Formats: sequence, structure tokens, C-alpha cells
Amino acid sequence: MDHFDYIVVGAGASGLVAAARLARGGASVRVLEAADRLGGCIHSWRPRDDFWLELGAHTAYNSYAPLLEALEDRGRLGELLLREKVGYRFVTAEGHLQSPMARLNFLEAALFLPFGLFRAKAGRSVAQWFSGLLGSGNYRRLLGPAFAAVLSQRADDFPAQWLFRKKPRMRTAPRKFTFSGGLQGLLEALVENAPFSLRTGAQVRAIQRDDSGFRVWVGETETRGKKLLLALPVDVAAALLADLYPEVARRLARFPMVASEALGVVLPAGKTALPPLAGLIGADDSFWSVVTRDPVPHASLRGYTFHFRPGILDRAGKLARIAQVLGVASSEFLHVEETVNRLPAPGVEHADLAGEALALLEREPLALVGNYLNGLSIGDCAERAVIEAERLLQLQG
Ligand SMILES: Cc1cc2nc3c(=O)[nH]c(=O)nc-3n(C[C@H](O)[C@H](O)[C@H](O)COP(=O)(O)OP(=O)(O)OC[C@H]3O[C@@H](n4cnc5c(N)ncnc54)[C@H](O)[C@@H]3O)c2cc1C
Repeated sequence: MDHFDYIVVGAGASGLVAAARLARGGASVRVLEAADRLGGCIHSWRPRDDFWLELGAHTAYNSYAPLLEALEDRGRLGELLLREKVGYRFVTAEGHLQSPMARLNFLEAALFLPFGLFRAKAGRSVAQWFSGLLGSGNYRRLLGPAFAAVLSQRADDFPAQWLFRKKPRMRTAPRKFTFSGGLQGLLEALVENAPFSLRTGAQVRAIQRDDSGFRVWVGETETRGKKLLLALPVDVAAALLADLYPEVARRLARFPMVASEALGVVLPAGKTALPPLAGLIGADDSFWSVVTRDPVPHASLRGYTFHFRPGILDRAGKLARIAQVLGVASSEFLHVEETVNRLPAPGVEHADLAGEALALLEREPLALVGNYLNGLSIGDCAERAVIEAERLLQLQG
């Protein structure tokens, strides 16, 4: 049996930023991760030593200051990779590319904009707030599909206050960046020679509590910690807390989850006629978005990850649609990889539920962090992770 000051469950961005902060002052910290790799939604697939492609998150910004500060503590801030400026296009059912501006009705936007800007986002959904900003036609044609591409799910009911939350920037870092080996490389840099320990392949199945703290079970192995931080998908956190903190678990269990099916392909450069692009937005298509490797170009390869809506196409159907959009035969694909990403799908009411769950834990030695508490982005997760780590550090006992 192992004893630690803190146990962190989940080694995605939330868990690793929290662990780094908890361990900074010398406390002992163990991170337990179910998968065989760290990263969660940050998943840099590496089919060759010299090539990676993002199957999950792809872009980080200098407004993700708590993430950058954790990297700075490890002396690795200098390894950020700049993302080249390439744009996004819509792709029509026939496979034609269309600039986002071509879908904007300027007259409608001009009518709404002067009044739309000054309304509060709290209590409004993305569809309500942004339809008020640019008009419902512009929302339907342009913003709705663009936001669905960002969130890998229908964006209409998402709380407006959780999308593009303003955060202070670290001005010395590039505005948009990734890392050597992809964003997963950035998280790996947080773990290398870190003052905390990480165990992968460790799926937590139960949590108990006694006078000395928490007892966390992986199979038949127990890990003990005085304080506990859960950095898990919301449905997993709800299940693990059902007996111990039923009032909190009841609130978390009300968050729906969605899946999006990622399929990445790598092909020789020069095979597709697509211009360099950061990504594609699918409007009424089988996919929400396509993310490319073009912002960090490779000399001889190009890579595309299609984020498909769940349950529409099988693997053969996905490969056929990808080949159609890229304008190549699928026999040109050198490497192919599939994964499923799971995300919370909050509506406006879930912002209140998240606040209630956090309030219930205000004086408890248990903290919740993750992408269901104040927004979905890595920056939102990192911000929450630092707030909760600081709260646990200051809690007496
Ligand atoms: C396709 C996609 C694209 C995205 N693009 C961007 C982007 O470009 N920029 C951006 O800022 N954000 C982006 N996001 C959002 C962002 O990546 C995520 O919201 C964020 O990384 C979530 O981090 P997390 O640590 O809270 O959760 P997760 O990444 O979900 O991590 C939770 C971890 O808990 C582990 N776990 C689960 N159950 C157990 C258990 N029982 N025991 C132990 N461990 C367990 C999981 O294996 C996982 O590693 C994207 C998300 C997706 C899916």
C-alpha cells in the first residue's frame, strides 16, 4: 500500500497541471491514469518517429497561462512550436471549399451587431447569444457549424459564458502554439523529471474515506492519500462519488456526454490538391471538422483528422468520405488511425449545477477539476486545475 499527501485521478491536461501545482512545494503526489498513455483528449498519434498528427486537441493559446506556467517551472517553455497562419474553410456536400466570409450576410450582421454586443452571456445558450449578435440566419449558416467544429458536438445549447472565456495572456509566448511531438509532448514535458509520480494503466474502480483520508482502489491495490483531486470525465467522477458524496454525484450525473469519432490519415505530400489549411468545417456533413498538420508543415507528408458525428458511417464509409474530400484514392493513405473522443455536452442549466457541486466541496479535502466546470478548452481546464490545487494546499489538515 502506498501513502501520499495527494492523489490525483486522471492524467489529462486538468490532472497534470493540478499535480504539478500540488507538488511544487514538496508534497508527495501520485497521479493514477486508466489509459496506457497520458493526455486524455490530448492525443498526438505518432505513426512514425518524425511525424505526429493530433487525434484530439490541436491548438493552445497564450491565454492558457496556468499551463504555460507549469511548463516554465520545468524549464521547457522554449520548446513551444509556432503554428503557421493558415485558415479554415467550409466544405460543401459536393466537396467544394468555401470561405467562412462567403456564408456571412453583412446586412443582417450590421442590423444585429450594435445591440447584440452588450448582452450578458450568463443564462444564455450559444445559439441565443450569437443569434442575437449576428442574426439567426448568420448563426445557422456560419456560426452554428463553426462552433460545432470547435466543440466536436452540436453547439446550440452550450452555455455562452463557457465559450471563448477571456483569460489573461502570457505575452512572451506565441499567440497560438503546439509542442514538439504535438500537444501530448507538452504534457509529457510536465511529467519528465517531475516532482510527482504517474502510474498509467491504473483504472480507479472505487474510492473510500476514513479518518486518515482517502483510499483509492485500482484492482486489488490500494493507494492512500490525505487529499484527493478528481480530474476525470464527468460521468466517471459521478459514478466514483455516488456513495461518498451523493449530493455532488447527483449533480454531476445530470451532465450528458457525447462521443465524436476521430479518424486520422497520413499521405505523401503532393497527393492532395487541397491548399494548406488549419482545418475544414463540415456543414450538414457526416463530420463536424477536419484538423490538419498544415500549421506545422512536414517536408514529405500531410495529415488530416476527420472528427465524425457518432454512429453515422462505418470505417469503410469514413475512409470513402475522407478520400472524396481530399480528392485522392484511399490506397494513397500510408497510415490510418481511429479513436473515440468523449466530451461533456452541457446546456445552460449545467453551468449552475457545476457551481453547486463546487460550492458543496468548498471545505472538503476533495477537489473536482475538468472540462465540465467552466468551459471545455485546455485553458479553462488548466485555470480550474490551479484554483482547486491552491484550495487543497491551503486547506488545514
Ligand atoms: C476532438 C477534440 C478537439 C479539441 N480541440 C481543442 C483545442 O484545439 N484546444 C483546446 O483548448 N481544447 C480542445 N479540446 C478540448 C480539450 O482537449 C479537453 O476538454 C481537455 O483536454 C480535457 O482535459 P481533462 O484533463 O479535463 O479531461 P480528459 O482529457 O478527458 O482526461 C481525463 C483522463 O481521465 C482518465 N480516466 C478516465 N476514467 C478513469 C479512471 N476510472 N481511473 C483513472 N483514470 C481515468 C482518462 O483516461 C483521461 O486520461 C478538444 C477536445 C476534443 C475531444
